[in-house]
Amino acid sequence: MIDVHAHLTDSCFTDIDEVIKRAKNVGIECIITSIIDPLEIKRAKEIISLYPNYVYLTIGFDPTLLSEEKFSQFEKLVKEENIIGIGEVGLDFYYIRDSSQREIQEKFFRRSIHLALERELPIIVHSRSAGRKALEILYFEGAKKVIMHAFDGKSSDAKKAIEKGFYFSIPTSVVYSQQKQKLVRNLSIEFLLLETDSPVLSPIRGLRNEPANLIYALKKISEIKKISEKEVDRITTENTKKIFNF
Ligand SMILES: [Zn+2]
Repeated sequence: MIDVHAHLTDSCFTDIDEVIKRAKNVGIECIITSIIDPLEIKRAKEIISLYPNYVYLTIGFDPTLLSEEKFSQFEKLVKEENIIGIGEVGLDFYYIRDSSQREIQEKFFRRSIHLALERELPIIVHSRSAGRKALEILYFEGAKKVIMHAFDGKSSDAKKAIEKGFYFSIPTSVVYSQQKQKLVRNLSIEFLLLETDSPVLSPIRGLRNEPANLIYALKKISEIKKISEKEVDRITTENTKKIFNF
């Protein structure tokens, strides 16, 4: 299994060594950690150097930040740092209700898509309460190598997106989320990836999430798809290696 989306730089991971040990023990092959604020880069680099060839980095931009200065710092990091993808970036219409602020999000999102295209990197997309809008922008900008992370939109929209080759990473909250279960039911496993979004989206509500919990997403997908856990593991890992060029 590969956890395609976690936030190991979060300050709650004071026991990072134990977290990584537990991930290895349940068979996690590697973890892709995402930063969403340029401030996190120092900690991210520490973690990467502690676990070489095990933790990989993507650099993103929290869509609720709305600061041109911070966005420029993000662009600079994307160009300078050794990363395997861009993200998470995108839209958040759950927290941002004001239309002029949503326009700023859109502008940053489009620029992030262009950056990913220039560098030929996969892009991990956050689209909370903005699934269809985010997809429309991705289509319009000609985005390639797209991973829709923890998609909360309609399965019918997601189905159209996989026709364009977009991937969907299914978070550990699939254990209880009816919407995520429906997504799994409706999408071909050839376009599914696994993620925890640690420390959030825990399979056990209210608890801190961590990469070792990926096993719960695997089990749930296996149950819904009626495909053995081993097969789900093999296919989702292959999908991940394909999109990230591992
Ligand atoms: Zn995230």
